[in-house]
Amino acid sequence: MRKKIVAANWKMNMTQAEAASFVETLLREIGDVSDVEVVIVPPFTAIAKVSEALGSSETIKIGAQNMYWERGGAFTGEISAAMLRDLFVRYVVLGHSERRQLLGETDQIVNRKVRVALDASLRPIVCVGETLEQRDRGEVERVLCQQLRGSLAEIGAKEMDDIVIAYEPVWAIGTGRTASAEQAQEAHSFIRHTLGEISDDATATKIRIQYGGSVKPDNARTLMSQPDIDGALVGGASLDPHSFAEIVRGARPRSSGPRRAVAAEP
Ligand code: PEP
Repeated sequence: MRKKIVAANWKMNMTQAEAASFVETLLREIGDVSDVEVVIVPPFTAIAKVSEALGSSETIKIGAQNMYWERGGAFTGEISAAMLRDLFVRYVVLGHSERRQLLGETDQIVNRKVRVALDASLRPIVCVGETLEQRDRGEVERVLCQQLRGSLAEIGAKEMDDIVIAYEPVWAIGTGRTASAEQAQEAHSFIRHTLGEISDDATATKIRIQYGGSVKPDNARTLMSQPDIDGALVGGASLDPHSFAEIVRGARPRSSGPRRAVAAEP
């Protein structure tokens, strides 16, 4: 059984003070949740503050939004995997569509970063997803297949266990337009099938595939109850600790402990 993983991608938001206050509230809301893996992905400048605010909490882990593929040296403005490890970072988002579109990140670049991240014991969250034009042209499977094969080239089956895939249709990111649960499930099922071809079926069954694209408290549970959707990568709705906590609760198995929405018995 795959444990759901819900990550808050803050993008270029949050000062250190805002980050500390967010963590304080989030710990109050979901500090005792152990059946969902929760990851906060702050900008580099707030990582240390988030780490400090989390204290000894083991519930919430820290991710980074990017890293460079070289180990160190004359690369002005870049951050290495070892630097992230030094800040207790466990996950790193790679190949986000904003980086692919705005900064020219290719599958080959993502692949180099995946290799270096794994070598440094960082777990990559590899983002894939089609644009609206590609969907309209019927190219969803071709695009996903190309991105997965390119980004995961030369990654061994054993190493794949440490990888999380995020399916993020570009047309659903920050637009308020969510993929329907059926559209998302169809893409996730195809991704799992392709992962099976890249590695093997047993490995593909274990890999977690998050959905990302305008996930909100009111659509999170429906999306995450699809058989191949193993969590969410959340942008906009992750900037408010209450709405992010609600999304995390939406990932919990139905039988899990009390929900905040349940009114007290008279
Ligand atoms: C994202 O950027 O990863 C994302 C899914 O953003 P949003 O939730 O705002 O669509």
